[in-house]
Amino acid sequence: MARTSISVKAAAFNQGRFPTIAFVNKATTPLGVNLDKLVTALQKQLDEHFVPIWGYPAKLYVTGKPKGDEWQIVFLEDADAANALGYHDITKDGQPISKVFVKTTLAAGEKISTTASHELLEMMIDPGAQLWAQNVDGKLYAYEMCDAVESEEYEIDGIAVSDFVHPSFFESWHLPRAVQFDHLKKVTKPFDTLPNGYQIVNDGKSVHEVFGSETKKQDFQREIRAQHRSEYRKQLMEANEVAQQQPPDLAHAAVLFHAGQFLTALALTKKRPPEPLPPFTTPWDTDPPSNPWRFR
Ligand SMILES: [Zn+2]
Repeated sequence: MARTSISVKAAAFNQGRFPTIAFVNKATTPLGVNLDKLVTALQKQLDEHFVPIWGYPAKLYVTGKPKGDEWQIVFLEDADAANALGYHDITKDGQPISKVFVKTTLAAGEKISTTASHELLEMMIDPGAQLWAQNVDGKLYAYEMCDAVESEEYEIDGIAVSDFVHPSFFESWHLPRAVQFDHLKKVTKPFDTLPNGYQIVNDGKSVHEVFGSETKKQDFQREIRAQHRSEYRKQLMEANEVAQQQPPDLAHAAVLFHAGQFLTALALTKKRPPEPLPPFTTPWDTDPPSNPWRFR
């Protein structure tokens, strides 16, 4: 497993109130959709479809100057532009950020509106990309609302938005078709990946993608995934596992050994008899009650 360096700064993620999410366009390539109309459609998707199921509202708006306590969805040319413009895993004020790579998304044949919807819905529920759900097979599945149903879309006021799974998708006890698993009713059982979807799975040995079809796997491998949320999630989990698996090196072991010897020697020089415990007293030692349950 490759060693990765990733650090997550403590972020308040404005807990205690619902977020305002600023949509910021820093791309030069045209989005192929009017940004104001897109954000209006996404607000509708949240209010009318997503919040009744997932219960976490937000106020969306378009701006060139987001405020410090706002979450952000930023449209950038590609991952290089994100690096050049100094966009990281969280905003400079410690708030969640999602990036839509315009050139990369269009080159992969995907719509900016569907991708923005995908990123928005996933950020709403897991802004740090660190939540996982356990399936009956014991494997952990990324708690992502759109990956398994990626490419499934529907229109709101003529603008394409992404399908999303319901919480029941991550509840392994549901029988096939027993409940609704996604907005478009395409998924028939928990944890299932649709043909054009994928999921990130941690089986205890590695953190990897599972694909709904061979075509999806090939498409995915052709895509430029740098700085994508799923890559960040994998790096985060791998970095934590590497940190846990690191055996102490020799110098570290030597320090521990000598520290142990020193403490033993110190204990021997300061040997003294244990202090007697204070006498155990009960309320009736001095005044035995006739009824021990009586209040005094
Ligand atoms: Zn996703």
